[in-house]
Amino acid sequence: MLDNLGARFQDIFKKVRGHGKLSESNIKEALREVKMSLLEADVNYKVVKDFIKKIQDKAIGTEVVTGINPGQQFIKIVNDELVELLGGTNSRLTKGVRNPTVIMLAGLQGAGKTTFAAKLSNYLKKTGERPYMISADVYRPAAMKQLEVLGKQIDVPVYFEEGSKDAVGICERGLEKAKEANATYLIIDTAGRLHIDEHLMEELKDIKKTVRPQEILLVVDAMIGQDAVNLAESFNNALNIDGVILTKFDGDTRGGAALSIKSVVGKSIKFVGTGEKISDLELFHPERIASRILGMGDVVSLVEKAQEAINEDDAKSLEEKIRTQQFDLDDFLKQLQNIKKLGPLGSILKMLPGVGQIGDLAPAEKEMKKVEAIIQSMTKEERKKPEILKASRKQRIAKGSGTDVSDVNKLLKQFEQMKDMMKMFSSGKFPNIPGMRGK
Ligand code: GDP
Repeated sequence: MLDNLGARFQDIFKKVRGHGKLSESNIKEALREVKMSLLEADVNYKVVKDFIKKIQDKAIGTEVVTGINPGQQFIKIVNDELVELLGGTNSRLTKGVRNPTVIMLAGLQGAGKTTFAAKLSNYLKKTGERPYMISADVYRPAAMKQLEVLGKQIDVPVYFEEGSKDAVGICERGLEKAKEANATYLIIDTAGRLHIDEHLMEELKDIKKTVRPQEILLVVDAMIGQDAVNLAESFNNALNIDGVILTKFDGDTRGGAALSIKSVVGKSIKFVGTGEKISDLELFHPERIASRILGMGDVVSLVEKAQEAINEDDAKSLEEKIRTQQFDLDDFLKQLQNIKKLGPLGSILKMLPGVGQIGDLAPAEKEMKKVEAIIQSMTKEERKKPEILKASRKQRIAKGSGTDVSDVNKLLKQFEQMKDMMKMFSSGKFPNIPGMRGK
């Protein structure tokens, strides 16, 4: 999502940086390109026009501060406006004074409401809350069961009435149950339709009247492009929503919706869904998304992801092992698995500054899988002391892991080199790496 736009912006900025001084015609040219790339990314035309006008006013009116590269200054202006366009600062979920804070979800069928209900519950649970869910989707036959299964996976209770068609009644009774259970948040999954219709809106309004939610969040599939903006407008007119959730942000659509919703509808995006797994949820931080688009990286999100995936005890025990030179292939395997927990390599690298566009990472990922399979085919003893491996065992391991003996040998050699490096680091004798200032 937003990859193409990122690539275009980075090209434009490269050109802008090349100019020692920014003249009015340089700026005009750059702005024309910014405009084209936003339109290509499927951003609403009116939004683009306003955006360009704001940048133009600022860029042309600004005195070039001495000591600062004018190109950088231009990028800063675009960055600030982009953050504003995306919704300013990150808008968090409301927390009501009384428990539970009720969050009602709305959206079309297939948008990802049920999945998001579970993702949000999981997120809240991790922040120390006690979530509770209600399935009031009385139309899609499998919806209640789906939420029940997801609830079990994350150990969050789900209230539903199988076979019932009384969505409002389900919500009323579910709310009582959530109070009895002393829940701090109640998330209500409602029914969707393939298209907006009167009946759906009436039902949602009835639920709203009955449960008086502190927040109504509209769940929208980001893949539907510009329609997402129209949809958000219709739901907002009927229900006065509090925020938007964009799902399927991992898809490869152009992402213009993300950039248009706040301006057109006036409501912020609060979360984005980035995959089908329950953990595939990110808070929507306008500043971070803007930096990602402008190729400045998103180190903060990366660090947060790493903190989630790697626990501190593991990190300490790893450090101890490196220091005492007991790092073995089992530890190596664990590290590989930690990297995998962060997500696909491509999406990790994209968060680093300067790595805006990257080539095909499939070979690197394949290589990681190979190494994992090889280590998993070894016995515990062999993982601790790979030097005991004889040719016949290497052949068995290659067969067991679907690789060649040469792959096994390559891994063992790399592992030996790695251990040598660690030995040097832990003894304080740093190798003389070209390009680094050695002692
Ligand atoms: P609902 O009808 O609105 O309740 O939609 P569901 O929660 O059943 O989701 C519809 C489909 O979209 C399912 O196959 C989900 O796995 C998938 N889905 C939901 N959120 C995401 C997301 O963020 N990324 C991707 N790739 N798929 C998603």
